[in-house]
Amino acid sequence: MTDSARDRGVAIGIDLGGTKIEMILISPDGAVLFRERMPTPREEGYRAILAAVAGMVDHAVAQLGPDETFTVGVGIPGSLDDNTGLVRNANSTCLIGKPLKTDLELMLGHPVQVRNDADCFTLAECVSGAGQGYGLVFGVIMGTGCGGGICYNGVVREGPHRISGEWGHYSVDPQGAECYCGNRGCVETLISGSGVENAYCREHDMRLSMDQIVIKARSGDPRCSMAFERFLDDFGRCLGGLISTLDPDAVVLGGGLSNIDEIFTVGIDRVRHYAFHNDLRTPILKNRLGDSAGVFGAAWIGRNP
Ligand SMILES: [Zn+2]
Repeated sequence: MTDSARDRGVAIGIDLGGTKIEMILISPDGAVLFRERMPTPREEGYRAILAAVAGMVDHAVAQLGPDETFTVGVGIPGSLDDNTGLVRNANSTCLIGKPLKTDLELMLGHPVQVRNDADCFTLAECVSGAGQGYGLVFGVIMGTGCGGGICYNGVVREGPHRISGEWGHYSVDPQGAECYCGNRGCVETLISGSGVENAYCREHDMRLSMDQIVIKARSGDPRCSMAFERFLDDFGRCLGGLISTLDPDAVVLGGGLSNIDEIFTVGIDRVRHYAFHNDLRTPILKNRLGDSAGVFGAAWIGRNP
């Protein structure tokens, strides 16, 4: 992102997640002026979520002088349909099919930018995290699901269908598990927390969390070791294929699963094995901003849509 794009007033970012909503107010130079977070009122539905987001924006605006200009960006676990502008593919299902951007703009009387949370993550890591200084960056969120975003020279690549980076629904195994998107064997069914947990449950008729599977694998449990080994191999195959396609300058990993140390040892060895190059040098980096990447990215998106 260019400096001229970042020097227009303060920026309000909202990370609208499935369990929490986080808000940040940042100055033109990126300093945090105000922060707030609350649980997402998902039981109460769409109108309650709208009211919660608008209320948090009002709290941020209340910190400003009367003539101060500001921008508003919102990151969501989904995206806006390129034809209708309605939310699609959101795992907070009450948002699906809703005109979130239009409704928020009406409530606030102010323009609002809405973007996919993986795009926000990638942008934030490029502006002030692990992706700084790299040209083409692929950002991965591996958590309950698996999402991705692409930034080139600090600008998010959105694409004509607004699906750039959605490798989580690249179907890699036609015999694999059904995915909610309608395909089978998507990347998300192999290397997300829910994907690994569901596969373990299908095979052993027993539900363990991803954390439990990793801990038991480390202590030598044979079933969990097999599941964990397969996860690391799938990670290598999926990311190796992606790197062969995009050849990015760096990959930044985020989400809860990026805290698994073996991803950065065995996992990266597998990526090198599967990528179409016998001396792969692509830096595969752990995020630096942690949970805060989403809300910072939303703020930067609002300022430079
Ligand atoms: Zn899918």
